[in-house]
Amino acid sequence: MISHWQELNNVVPSTKKDVRDQIVWNNRFIKINKASAYFRSWHQAGICKLSTLLDESNTRFLTFNEFVRKFKVKCNFLQYHGLLSAMPSDWKKYLKQEEQAATVTLPDVDKLTCKTVYRSLIDHQNLPPPTTEKRLIECGFDIQERQKIYSLPFLVTKEIKLTIFQYKIIHNFLYTNYILYKMKKVENPHCPFCTNVDQTVSHLFISCPYASSFWSEFIEWYQSISKKTLNLSKNEVMYGVLNDWSSCSTLNHLIIIGKYFLYCKALNSGKFQFADYINLVNDKIEIEQHIALMSNTHKFLKK
Ligand SMILES: [Zn+2]
Repeated sequence: MISHWQELNNVVPSTKKDVRDQIVWNNRFIKINKASAYFRSWHQAGICKLSTLLDESNTRFLTFNEFVRKFKVKCNFLQYHGLLSAMPSDWKKYLKQEEQAATVTLPDVDKLTCKTVYRSLIDHQNLPPPTTEKRLIECGFDIQERQKIYSLPFLVTKEIKLTIFQYKIIHNFLYTNYILYKMKKVENPHCPFCTNVDQTVSHLFISCPYASSFWSEFIEWYQSISKKTLNLSKNEVMYGVLNDWSSCSTLNHLIIIGKYFLYCKALNSGKFQFADYINLVNDKIEIEQHIALMSNTHKFLKK
């Protein structure tokens, strides 16, 4: 029996499945005081493959209390953790790795809603990447503000294209010429409107003369229709107005549309007038109304 197990455990595990299928007992990879382990009473209680020691998520070992509850064996904390710490550290990595691959799977594209995208992103615990968090901290945002920044694209618009657009800005993977050039997809990293200036996200939306004149007109236009004073900082253009933000939902939506407008114009190297932006806003309002109508119809049909 023991040699049979040894044979089974002969392959060096290199996937999550291999690790889960490892027989714990007499395993040449699991050694306590230089000897393979075998606890008869544990084996009799049903512990055999490593998967029996994992929790429902299959990524984590049972805690000591969960283990005792599940197998009702006589053992102490040290004995249980002695066995777990004898497992190769690679195995713990494999158990986690495959889980990450599984969580990136998104639902069918035509069934995507803001809610499903949001949930997938939230569930994917690797997000936001540490670089994003670091960048936002450097910009001076505290934890509450950072949470607002992450959820804003999902709250101010129902249009997935715009949500994803803002999401890319937050996480710094919007395809500007600067990034496309690094990927060897375009011949130069420059802004189509400026000579020899890289088109970074910050140039595209803030420092390009076309962008700064756009935001001046935007502020004038917004003040005239809202009868409120508006000052937009660089951070607010990039990530939204976060103060009193429940009443700034429309403004934040308009800012995202503004950036989308600048991005599309730069993509086509097209010069523009502010009136083109107003037309785009009107189109977007129609789209939002259509989405709202569709989701209400869905709710109505479900009832
Ligand atoms: Zn420029």
